[in-house]
Amino acid sequence: MEQSESCSIFAGMMKIESGIPGMHGRCIRCGAEIYGRTDKQFCSLSCKNAYNYNKVEKSRRIRNRVITALNVNYRMLESMLDAGTRSVDISTLEDSGFKPLYITGFRRTRGRYDEYSCFDIRYCRTENRVFNIRREEFL
Ligand SMILES: [Zn+2]
Repeated sequence: MEQSESCSIFAGMMKIESGIPGMHGRCIRCGAEIYGRTDKQFCSLSCKNAYNYNKVEKSRRIRNRVITALNVNYRMLESMLDAGTRSVDISTLEDSGFKPLYITGFRRTRGRYDEYSCFDIRYCRTENRVFNIRREEFL
């Protein structure tokens, strides 16, 4: 009897709790209920800081991945130039880690093939082959 009373009181409290005025949304990081100003997105300052840190960190990781891919491509193209090689199958390059989608420049030419660049090294390419690899001389 006593226990069922406390249960009904508890149920009543739950009902009241879910209707607390001021709760207007959930934290976009942890999902906790948010009270206070209606434009608040976070339950706490630590959630806000963690969310923003992760956002910045994610962006930094993406940029680092691209820079790493460009560095790998550059080293491969440079070693080909050093070896006097001006033409190679893309599949051979890809087997060694070259990523053809990562370039620092692209230029349409009047010729048959467009020109790609990886920093100061330029090359033309077909679907299967990289050729005319050369270093651009900057003034
Ligand atoms: Zn939170």
